[in-house]
Amino acid sequence: MVRPERRTVRDLRRGNRAVLLRALYFAGPTSRHELTALTGLSAATVSNVTGDLLADDIIVEAGLVDSDGGRPRVLLRVNPTYGFAIGVDVGETHVRVELFDLDMNELAKSEFALRPGAHDVDVVVRHVLSGIDAVVADSGVPPSKVLGVGVGVPGIVERGPEAMIHAQTFGWDSVPLGTLLRAGTPFPLHIDNGAKTMGQAEMWFGAGRGSRHAVIALIGSGVGASIIADGMTYRGANSSAGEWGHTKIAIGGRSCRCGGRGCLEAYIGAEAVLERAGIDVDTSTEQAAFAELVTSGSPVVDETVEYLGAGLANLINLFNPERIVVGGWAGLLLGQHLLTTIKQRAAENCLTQPYSTASIVLGRLGPDAVALGAATLVVDEFLLSTTSSSVSREPAVS
Ligand SMILES: [Zn+2]
Repeated sequence: MVRPERRTVRDLRRGNRAVLLRALYFAGPTSRHELTALTGLSAATVSNVTGDLLADDIIVEAGLVDSDGGRPRVLLRVNPTYGFAIGVDVGETHVRVELFDLDMNELAKSEFALRPGAHDVDVVVRHVLSGIDAVVADSGVPPSKVLGVGVGVPGIVERGPEAMIHAQTFGWDSVPLGTLLRAGTPFPLHIDNGAKTMGQAEMWFGAGRGSRHAVIALIGSGVGASIIADGMTYRGANSSAGEWGHTKIAIGGRSCRCGGRGCLEAYIGAEAVLERAGIDVDTSTEQAAFAELVTSGSPVVDETVEYLGAGLANLINLFNPERIVVGGWAGLLLGQHLLTTIKQRAAENCLTQPYSTASIVLGRLGPDAVALGAATLVVDEFLLSTTSSSVSREPAVS
């Protein structure tokens, strides 16, 4: 049996390591001196732990910076090629697989088209697995350096080894995607809802950076949200939190793809907007038709902005975010042309005080950051769980 005091020492050491690594990852090149200020750890701890991380090649030196009159200070940074993360976007019309280094530079990419409405589980699994093989081969990265695979999928993802997916609009009812993928790849898997992975990408590298209370609202054909509460993605009891698109905006209203009526998605989802405008499209022409409609002055667009404003106001009233990031390809198109009106409509439907402290901004990573976001699931795990031989030494914890 492990003695409690030993475990405590080890946990503390590992915790310090994670704190330092995370600070370095997000701050970029940083001196040991700055790290003590950033993390609140003592100079001795910073020195010990960075020494371990350097020895393990997890961090590297990144040049020198002048200190006031003293010796120049060495800058440290996370080693971008210590490991690699694969991100997968399972979307309505494609399966996209990308391989990144730890700086999130994309080193290889593989894409497979999905026929509209044809989301057969076996086909998707085959594409994901072939994509993983392809990006590892194309990048030349040794498989031993692949830290894991993150997968962003539509619908509700139950956490657990099976990663059970419930995606009504995709025709997936209790699909054990984790189990199916694990049979075909040796890499650790992290599966989450695509809106949540995209939300994490915007929080880490995009318009959400620096905020602790935020909502990333994604509008494409479907509508979803990622709610960040006190720096963490809010999941609810079974990870389904954030199904903003299926909150009701009209009693007995339009039919939604989920089978219900009056859902927000049935009013502001791109497919629904085009349908309301009487424009007949397929998935290949949907984005162009939507872009044209947004600038056409159509009353359907005014109405859409009204519904969107009410939907955003509901988010603000419920969650009191400091920032709402509007993203997704349709959200970005609406926002690029109509952000001022969207904000007005939100203000008209919102309590004054929470509205006054919330900013509504556009996503910065474009509409295709689901795979990048999925890869951040892998990096997140890496930053939390990195261990080394030194952790099991009898350390002097400062
Ligand atoms: Zn619905």
